Amino acid sequence: MRAVELFRIRLPLVEPFQTARSATIHKDALLVRVVTDDVSGWGEVGAEVAPTYAPDTLDTARLVLRDELVPRVFAGVPLDEVRGHHPAQGALTGALLDAELRATGVSLASHLGGTRPFVDAGVAIGRHADIAGAVAAAATFADLGYRSFKLKIAPGHDVNVVEAIRAEVGADIGLQVDANGSYDLADADHLAKLDPLDLVCFEQPLAPDARVDHARLAARLQTPIGLDESITSPRVARDAIELNACEVVSIKSGLVGGITAAGRIHDLCASSGVAARAGGMLETGVGRAALLALASLPGFTVIGDLSASNRYFAHDVTEPFVLDHGRLEVPTGPGLGVTPLPAMLARATIAHERLTP
Ligand code: MG
Repeated sequence: MRAVELFRIRLPLVEPFQTARSATIHKDALLVRVVTDDVSGWGEVGAEVAPTYAPDTLDTARLVLRDELVPRVFAGVPLDEVRGHHPAQGALTGALLDAELRATGVSLASHLGGTRPFVDAGVAIGRHADIAGAVAAAATFADLGYRSFKLKIAPGHDVNVVEAIRAEVGADIGLQVDANGSYDLADADHLAKLDPLDLVCFEQPLAPDARVDHARLAARLQTPIGLDESITSPRVARDAIELNACEVVSIKSGLVGGITAAGRIHDLCASSGVAARAGGMLETGVGRAALLALASLPGFTVIGDLSASNRYFAHDVTEPFVLDHGRLEVPTGPGLGVTPLPAMLARATIAHERLTP
């Protein structure tokens, strides 16, 4: 190992993205590059600028990488002695795995046991100022070929929006909703009004730590409950399944500590008869490549956050992932199968650190 480099980058979004808890105008990301004598491996930190979606931020991840995780890699000490900080752990272990796979010529999807050459694309539709704006966005994405929509909802912006979009796109498009934990169990009677709308999944209705309340809500709603922010490790996923707190598990490598842990949760879901979906965080091409490799596993039976690069960015740091008849091709090259383009990376980089043994 010669070095580990950290690239803080910023990419303009083609349009702002609004959830129940935050608005993103431009995408900030932290990329990790592991440099060996032969190859470079890449990883992306699954965190945001502010701790409003999850506790870790890009800055906390950077400090933990610089002061705790990377020194352990240089010293040959196991990373799992560090507790938490899953986005940083996931990015570094992902970059190490990418370097290993590139050196041996194996794709990440093959390494994980992926079986699909293509995955169905889904698109998240953020909150709009009015229902007409959300309906117009849905119509645009339907025209582009997307066949699964996940609508961001929040109190006061829920049943009415879903009804309007269902009327616009028809019955053939799978609809999911995601509240990012913005309701309470006391809202159950209101949320039951979503039941007639035939949703594939209602993701994270309640707070991330509300596992028993999610089980109570799941018992009261017909709509399948999904958990996203709640799922922070394979053990937590097992507990949620045993509690009947969800019927769908949204798996995010950043939240659970890396792609290997994500694969273990996939396997747990498959053996438990629980649906899984591959969750995204507006990744750059580095994280998107890893997400596609994960989504190629057979147990992902609910369409995940798998959008083309141009859903978010006019110019990504890698070659863009493009829609092909409503699907995305899983990379087949060694490791992630994509590499940041030097000129694009240089243009997007706002801070760079090189750590050496
Ligand atoms: Mg979510």
